[in-house]
Amino acid sequence: MSAITLGIIGSGQLGSLLCQAARKLKVKTIVISDDNQGPAQNYADQFIFSKYDNKNKIKEFLDKVDVVTYEFENIPVETLKQINKEKKVLPKPNINEIIQNRKLEKTFVNDLGIKTTEWAFINSAEDVKKNEKLLPGILKTNTLGYDGHGQFILNSLSDLKKDWCFTADYILEKKVNLKKEISVVISRFSNGETYIYEPIENVHKDQILKHSKIPADISDKIYKEAQSNAKMIAEKLGYIGVMCVEYFIDQNDNLLTNEIAPRVHNSGHLTINAFNISQFENHVRAVCDLKMEPVKKISNAEMDNILGNEIEKFQNKSFKDNEFFFDYKKKEIKDKRKMGHLTILKS
Ligand code: ADP
Ligand code: MG
Repeated sequence: MSAITLGIIGSGQLGSLLCQAARKLKVKTIVISDDNQGPAQNYADQFIFSKYDNKNKIKEFLDKVDVVTYEFENIPVETLKQINKEKKVLPKPNINEIIQNRKLEKTFVNDLGIKTTEWAFINSAEDVKKNEKLLPGILKTNTLGYDGHGQFILNSLSDLKKDWCFTADYILEKKVNLKKEISVVISRFSNGETYIYEPIENVHKDQILKHSKIPADISDKIYKEAQSNAKMIAEKLGYIGVMCVEYFIDQNDNLLTNEIAPRVHNSGHLTINAFNISQFENHVRAVCDLKMEPVKKISNAEMDNILGNEIEKFQNKSFKDNEFFFDYKKKEIKDKRKMGHLTILKS
């Protein structure tokens, strides 16, 4: 057994896949989660069910781990900072502080000279009126959004509801006429070494990722710009671990940074089968300060997310040699919930 024990906050599919990668590297895993049904308990060496502010449980967790990472970004930064006083948290909590807040995130990206959609910070109906030029636009909660939760489409000022009292902060983004969406997954190690996976082309439906593929059908220029932006962002953040940058490509071939995920990412699931070292393995290697190994592409690939009750038909299906079905083993099927995925290797 390796001497390292990795603590993971969160117990969804990303946590599960991190645990599986860790096992391959003989790194022990302890998952802490406030969801007692979390599927990662099937793959972790130990599972601790706890609220994230339960000091005793957090202490029990911290006594057992060497380093801590997280599978989702919406953990209170204060919690991460407290944990970081005892055991190193990677990616660093101050990175999460920037990325979980759309205003800070976009400001950070723009300050690097990297383009995003046009946007404005909003905390009243008046602010929306002042930014009418951004309509049709999308109003997004400034914090805590995922899979399109907390997003409202505003085609015109008449869509502003009278009863909206703007108790939360928002940003308003101009709606982009999308030609394509792509993402770049980058792993960065403590010595500054990086590996950048090739851009992945993504299709979303109802703001949820549905389909990913490599190679992305994009120009060389966009390929290089997407990778170099991701590298610039990771370097500026002093990032350690795997990070993903989501991009929009507009009708004029402008590359716009949509958002950064300070973690492994759904669009990178195809790296499990299409590369010798997946995003999950690279993340574990980087945060546990293991050696970076040469990454090699094995095959082109496509990945489909399996949402809600679609999972039932896959559970009874047989698969070809180039098809890899992942069942997240979630206890409850919910509409639009990510229940599994299928990766197909292509020539
Ligand atoms: P989440 O945090 O929920 O992932 P995103 O900002 O990534 O939120 O939005 C989810 C998806 O919604 C995007 O991948 C894209 O398909 C669509 N979307 C979001 N913002 C815009 C925009 N400004 N213009 C066009 N499409 C958008
Ligand atoms: Mg997104």
